Amino acid sequence: MADEKDRLGDKLHQKEKADEDRFFAERDRELLARLRSHKEPADGLSCPRCAKPLAAVSYQDVTVDQCPACGGVWLDRGELEALAPRERESWLGRFFHRPKPVV
Ligand SMILES: [Zn+2]
Repeated sequence: MADEKDRLGDKLHQKEKADEDRFFAERDRELLARLRSHKEPADGLSCPRCAKPLAAVSYQDVTVDQCPACGGVWLDRGELEALAPRERESWLGRFFHRPKPVV
C-alpha cells in the first residue's frame, strides 16, 4: 500500500515536471519568435503572440507597433529609448532603467 502511494507521488511529480518543461518550452518559443520578428523590417513585423501583421501607431511623436488582433504592443529599442526618458518615474521608465539581467 505504501508502495502504491509512492508510485502515485512519483507520477504526480513527473507530471509537474512535464508541465514545467512545457511552460519553459512555450516561453522559449515566444522569445525566439520575438527575436526573429525583431530582425524583420519595421513594415513587415508580425505579432509575436498571434502572428498577425502589426500596425504602426503614433502616440506623442513616438511610433509603436500594435497588433490589431490581440492588442499587444511592440516597442523596439529606438522606440523604448524615445519613450523611457520622458517617463523616467513611470513603470515604463523604471523598467527601461532597471539593472539589466546578465545574459
Ligand atoms: Zn497579436
